[in-house]
Amino acid sequence: MLPQFLDSMVQLITRTSTDLPPDVRAAMRLAVRSEDPATRGGQALTIIAQNIDQAAACDGPICQDTGMPTFEVKVPIGANQISLREQIRDAVAEATKRGKLRPNSVDSITGENSGNNLGPGTPIVHFEQWERDDIEVKLILKGGGCENTNAQYSLPADLDHLGRADRTLEGVRKCILHAVWSAQGKGCSPGAVGVCVGGDRTSGYLHAKEQLFRTLDDTNTDPRLARLEHEIMEEANTLAVGPMGFSGKTSLIGCKIGALNRLPASFFVSIAYDCWAFRRLGVTVDAATGAITRWLYREGTQPSQPMLSPELVAAGFPRTGREVALEAPITEEQIRSLKVGDVVLISGRVFTGRDAVHAHLMKHEPPVDLRGAVLYHCGPVVVKDPDDNWTVTAAGPTTSIREEPYQAEILERYGVRAVMGKGGMGARTLAGLKQSGAVYLNAIGGAAQFYARCIERVAGVSLMEFGTPEAMWHLEVRDLPAIVTMDSHGNSLHKEVEQKSGEVLETLRG
Ligand code: SF4
Repeated sequence: MLPQFLDSMVQLITRTSTDLPPDVRAAMRLAVRSEDPATRGGQALTIIAQNIDQAAACDGPICQDTGMPTFEVKVPIGANQISLREQIRDAVAEATKRGKLRPNSVDSITGENSGNNLGPGTPIVHFEQWERDDIEVKLILKGGGCENTNAQYSLPADLDHLGRADRTLEGVRKCILHAVWSAQGKGCSPGAVGVCVGGDRTSGYLHAKEQLFRTLDDTNTDPRLARLEHEIMEEANTLAVGPMGFSGKTSLIGCKIGALNRLPASFFVSIAYDCWAFRRLGVTVDAATGAITRWLYREGTQPSQPMLSPELVAAGFPRTGREVALEAPITEEQIRSLKVGDVVLISGRVFTGRDAVHAHLMKHEPPVDLRGAVLYHCGPVVVKDPDDNWTVTAAGPTTSIREEPYQAEILERYGVRAVMGKGGMGARTLAGLKQSGAVYLNAIGGAAQFYARCIERVAGVSLMEFGTPEAMWHLEVRDLPAIVTMDSHGNSLHKEVEQKSGEVLETLRG
């Protein structure tokens, strides 16, 4: 038992969840500089940059989805892996208790949340031995929204807009571009991709995720893959998917490709898509005491270089004067006057609802009156203060498309006027918005600290039996910004960007 190992792991988890590493900050800084701040993409990036600084300053989670904790551990020969694994698990539970990780581990059959991020398969811990005397632990926290945009291709394949992808590096190029295009804003772009060429279906995905442990600014040691990485970065950023899929200059901040041998009969290309909230750090620890001897990916414990000046962070949402103020409950007339592209500032009461709430509402009456309401696709991080009051410490939007099978019916049945989330929704919801007189609002994915600051208080909670992320929270908000990306007249910005970026993709057929 190493006396300081548990504490070192709590430090590692806390820092990873709250403070982006310098290479990711540098890539995001470039993205902020390249986008006109007055555009939708520019506004989204300013909010993201503010959020990154706010999270580091308050030691709060950068995004409310603190993801699947994945540890890669290298140990000297003879180290007790059973004990190290136990302490990593204890550290995960402790970080969850402190609100640095959201309770994110649910029983796959019953849906019950374990409450402490422990359970079969959570956290993921991989061990490897090495011939050094110290221990190295690397951690990545990768959320569900971007995990859902991972892709695996079996070549040869026919791809939308790109035609046939053969068993060649040219075929691999097409797969990666196709994956970035398909992700649109659903994985909180701008994102980064880890890619594995070859392997089998299992090792391919694992190796793809391992590529995300490389820094964004390194150069691949294989010149063929280095060339391809460079090419992908150039081409993917012409697609104009843009921040959050709003269109814009930056769609991808990194592309890292590895290769594994394969069976002659198979040729898989596996792609692990990570969002802008690319949380990855590491430490080396003393094998006798467990104390941290060195931080990886960053210079010691020095504060990170801020993304923006303190004045810009304090200024909050960058307004243009064209924003529309909405106070919930909202009338149908107000909603019908909104068009795609309008920026709204929501005040009043907002109700959260994710997968469990939507499934529940299909069979049961809502626990609150939803007429005129804003239904927020959000699973916040919520903690109880010493006086037993709930406080939201992170509250960004979750991926909305998961609610597609339910949304139109819920709008019609209960009179909800605005659905807010990220990544947009499909044709059925678009038709439902038109019929019921409602809009879809796209909030900025991952901006959990920014949105937590728009919440004045937690007014109540229903359906707590679903666990904190899935419960229905009643939140009093003030000037919460979001963009109308699907209106009540049948227009969808998501459809438009997907179509236009598809036309660009077509030009990259090669
Ligand atoms: S930034 Fe978006 S994709 Fe990434 S973890 Fe947060 S919600 Fe998920």
